[in-house]
Amino acid sequence: MATDADAQELAALRTLSASIGRDPHLTQAAGGNTSLKAGETLWIKASGTWLKDALAKDIMVPVAISPLLSAVGQRDPAADRPQGFAIEALNPRGLRPSIETTVHALMPQRVVLHVHCVDTISLAIQADGEAEVARRLDGLEWAYVPYRRPGLPLAQGIAERLRPGVDVLILGNHGLVVAAETVADAEVLLRRVTRLLARSPRKVAEPDSAALTALAGSTGYRLPADVEAHAAAIDPESCSMASGGSLYPDHVIFLGRGSVVARPNEDVKRITQRCSTAPVAILFPGLGVLMRGDANAGAEAMQRCLADVTARVDATARLNYLTDAENDELINWDAEQYRQKLNAAGS
Ligand SMILES: [Zn+2]
Repeated sequence: MATDADAQELAALRTLSASIGRDPHLTQAAGGNTSLKAGETLWIKASGTWLKDALAKDIMVPVAISPLLSAVGQRDPAADRPQGFAIEALNPRGLRPSIETTVHALMPQRVVLHVHCVDTISLAIQADGEAEVARRLDGLEWAYVPYRRPGLPLAQGIAERLRPGVDVLILGNHGLVVAAETVADAEVLLRRVTRLLARSPRKVAEPDSAALTALAGSTGYRLPADVEAHAAAIDPESCSMASGGSLYPDHVIFLGRGSVVARPNEDVKRITQRCSTAPVAILFPGLGVLMRGDANAGAEAMQRCLADVTARVDATARLNYLTDAENDELINWDAEQYRQKLNAAGS
């Protein structure tokens, strides 16, 4: 820490981060990240750690800003491995900075909050979402960044859209970034933007726990941790949206490509045969969701997120799904395999 003022701001950021991390409508599992610039150092959440642990654990890693920004400017692949820019003397636990470190470094403001807000995502997956965001954020300095893989490609997408004064980014098929000079101002802006983007979820019926328990039988599948997760299968519109493919990166990382929806009269054994693998989650239309017995806390959080996001999308909206190539680059991505490993270990 360069100064006492920086140390105070970092403490305030940890408090705010923990509060953001406890809200499943803002972050899920190890998703989302926060940062503070103190002189030439960027303090950023470590990859694979959970924002909700920001007070209980040391999850912030120091990164050298200038060399990282130079690497982004030169499209140097090194910028896709931010651990190479960590200041090791101040990083005794050897944590890796978030794979989204470049997003934070690019914003000129001192404090940056990046969240996977379900209201924002529900708009950012609609083909007409940018126009709707424009209507709601009229008067704010914001920019829309079309989907790119997190890391260097997303950083380049942001650099193309960033204008002086912009302190709100809507990331297509991904989430929200807000930035300010102080933690207090960043929190005010976050609350303001999320209020402007808020949408009402469709109401759904209760899951059919008896039918799901019967379907689970001795297959090793079980009910999800959060009862809210079932809505993606119970609500016909949400289930139809889910069946279309992957809508944002963390879904692919924790649940795999798209969603597996049971066909009429199909049981777990038949579904596993059809998919040639046991899916992490199975949606039974009208009944609810079953999770594979070994599904980790990250998978649980992302299954709930799918329900929370799709319940907010207009039933008539055309959706932008991740392409096959975009799914592939997430599944075969070293940095994400690392994050998922840490996430599993922490859960
Ligand atoms: Zn993100």
